[in-house]
Amino acid sequence: MEFDDGVALDTSQVSDARGGGIGSRVAIGGGGLGIVGFIVYFVLSQLGGVPAGAPLNTESVGSGQAVSNTDLAQECRTGKDANTKPDCARVALINSIQGYWSDQFARSGRTYQQATTTFFSGGVNTGCGSATSDVGPFYCPADGKVYVDLTFFRELQTRFGAQGGTFAEAYVLAHEYGHHVQNLLGTSDKVRPGTGPTSDGVRLELQADCYAGVWANHATTTASSSGKPLIRSISQDDVDRALDVAARIGDDFIQKNLGGGKVDESQFSHGSSAQREQWFLAGINSGNPAECDTFSARNLG
Ligand SMILES: [Zn+2]
Repeated sequence: MEFDDGVALDTSQVSDARGGGIGSRVAIGGGGLGIVGFIVYFVLSQLGGVPAGAPLNTESVGSGQAVSNTDLAQECRTGKDANTKPDCARVALINSIQGYWSDQFARSGRTYQQATTTFFSGGVNTGCGSATSDVGPFYCPADGKVYVDLTFFRELQTRFGAQGGTFAEAYVLAHEYGHHVQNLLGTSDKVRPGTGPTSDGVRLELQADCYAGVWANHATTTASSSGKPLIRSISQDDVDRALDVAARIGDDFIQKNLGGGKVDESQFSHGSSAQREQWFLAGINSGNPAECDTFSARNLG
């Protein structure tokens, strides 16, 4: 994929909290405002791999974390930076994804609210409690933010065996923003807890995959604030890389290859690999969010 060299990036949509994580603060001594222990069960917003309702972490640091965007803002000015630096490509993808949903909401008479993505390393405090990198990228409905430890993208290749690449990351980010859209539309509120191949949780996840595909369909035509699309082109190879990730974070793939080795459908929380690919394709082929109604679909694939 290629970004348009001349189009400006908006780094205000990203918050860089790397290096300011929980680990370092606890190591310094904890104390002071104190460490509040609590468990947060938040609903189904991870990318995959973590069972629904799994506790995030049991510790939360009371004080805030240092967040500085200065470096990103200096490094990531235009699409040219996005074409050469991975962090800037992530900023550009987030700009494009939110640009699309902003337009789409406006077309249907709604107002899209921007969601910041926080890059973190190790651990992070969120409106949903504190989380470590183990949960993978996730969306927190309580504070309306996306959280990504960027080392996950490397792990996708080393641990999950994915091909990786910018568009593989695009799929991951667009999936998380799909959860933000569900939150804004009130879809997430209607989800009944539970797992299984036809559970609401799985339907929510497959819909987020479909929404990711819908964005991908519009990625090269979504104009940035400057009036020009940030993304110039997406190739078949890019789409294949997104599908490759979808296949490697399906419940059956994870259970077989990274879990106990046995597939147990009753524990499905995100859908099978085939379903995740299928719903991403439904989105990218139609470009229409209405085609992502996984809640009415009798057959999820
Ligand atoms: Zn998800």
